[in-house]
Amino acid sequence: MMFKVGLGFDSHRLVAGRPLIIGGVNIPSVVGCQAHSDGDVLIHALIDALLGAAGLGDIGQKFPETDLAYKNISSLELLRRVMAEIKASGLAVVNADTLVILERPKLAPFIAQMKEHLCPLLDLQPSSLGIKAKTAEGMGEIGSGQAVEAWATTLLTG
Ligand code: MG
Repeated sequence: MMFKVGLGFDSHRLVAGRPLIIGGVNIPSVVGCQAHSDGDVLIHALIDALLGAAGLGDIGQKFPETDLAYKNISSLELLRRVMAEIKASGLAVVNADTLVILERPKLAPFIAQMKEHLCPLLDLQPSSLGIKAKTAEGMGEIGSGQAVEAWATTLLTG
């Protein structure tokens, strides 16, 4: 049995007039992610961790921003496609751990809902998917509410 670890990161600028979608959940907010897709920073970090672990490149190669097919596409759909490739490579996800750094709103009330979206796609029990919400304690662009950042690690086996 082989194990492969992956690391992913993503960040987006927050602007007025865009939905704030994190972990597949539409979070009530006056600002949202400026992005070509739906800007789901958590799923984008997770996808890069999965692709990295599987040796399948990265999200920018798979879903180019220049391709209109991906304009405003749901990142849940992107994750579904990536997981199909992971499974086709004979790999399965053992666990994933993630964190989102966002000053406001508080994400804790939405974490269970995020897991309901993500766990079936990853074939994981909720106890094998970590989603942690942090703030930047007022420091930098994240702290001033101008940006959001996410990190993810995952372990694959096959
Ligand atoms: Mg992104």
